[in-house]
Amino acid sequence: MIPYRIDFEELRRRIREKGYRKVLLQLPEGMKLYGTEIADHLDDFETYISTEHCFGACDIVVHEDKLTVQFGHSEIPNIKYPENVIFVESFSEQSFKEVAEKFLKMQKCERIGIVASVQHVKKIEEVREIFEEHGREALVGKGDSRVKYDGQVLGCNFSAARSIAEDVDCFAFLGTGVFHAIGVRIVTDKKTYVLDPYSNEILDVEEQADRLMRQRFGAIVRAEHAERFGIIVSEKIGQRREKLALALKSMVESSGFKAYLLYGNEVNPEEMYYEVDAYVNTACPRVTYDDYLRFSKPVLTPIELQILLKYKLWEDYSFDEIVGVD
Ligand code: SF4
Repeated sequence: MIPYRIDFEELRRRIREKGYRKVLLQLPEGMKLYGTEIADHLDDFETYISTEHCFGACDIVVHEDKLTVQFGHSEIPNIKYPENVIFVESFSEQSFKEVAEKFLKMQKCERIGIVASVQHVKKIEEVREIFEEHGREALVGKGDSRVKYDGQVLGCNFSAARSIAEDVDCFAFLGTGVFHAIGVRIVTDKKTYVLDPYSNEILDVEEQADRLMRQRFGAIVRAEHAERFGIIVSEKIGQRREKLALALKSMVESSGFKAYLLYGNEVNPEEMYYEVDAYVNTACPRVTYDDYLRFSKPVLTPIELQILLKYKLWEDYSFDEIVGVD
């Protein structure tokens, strides 16, 4: 049974309003299990379940004759999506009461910034009230044009955290997994804790953030003697940073080296057989950070390439983030 509240009557109305008979369901990996059940609710249409990966609202499968219905993500406001795409958001109902109270007992910071992944963004108010009832100051930042909700962070955008970094002593990230919290930690330079509402565990990501920074430094060192660079450019609607890729290519060339633009939909590290010494990834930043060990050659973020080529200093290091796309 689908563990999210989805108003299928409303969804059918939206599909009919768009005037499509063929519907393509696009589901994140964690929801694929419910694909057939969702299709059962939409059997008055010719419904297809996409078998492609779906990593986020940056990643849309579009076919002219079908209406794409993307589940589980919120649209990215500054992306101009095709007309035949609609989103069905799904928010977790899981309460943070227990884990938030536990956090206050163990953590003494007075001014707490609250951030959340999109699934838990509707619980920010609940946590804010708990913090304030206990006499703490709770702040929620506003993201840039890539972010829909206040306090929301994406794996490629921490602007909501950055906007309040100066005014808080630490951050509480509402969600699961450590990736977003590590990003907040690195971008803001403030202690950051994961508040997991399912296990009620609290995790300080200091150690993970240190490890990641050491790994990134190691990647730059490994690429020290590189002379040929493969610059990865994604064709996905919300990951395409062509202008940045071209700017990086000219930096490489001005430094007397060769650069090649590698363009495609999926970045599969095991299939990167190109005759280059290092890759630079302008597609989803998670490919660089999460899949680093799957590449046979060093893979750098855009800023890491600039550090390598001495356009920037290691002290300028920041997490790779996407604001706008081309
Ligand atoms: S680019 Fe990567 S991190 Fe950003 S929304 Fe897409 S999948 Fe998530």
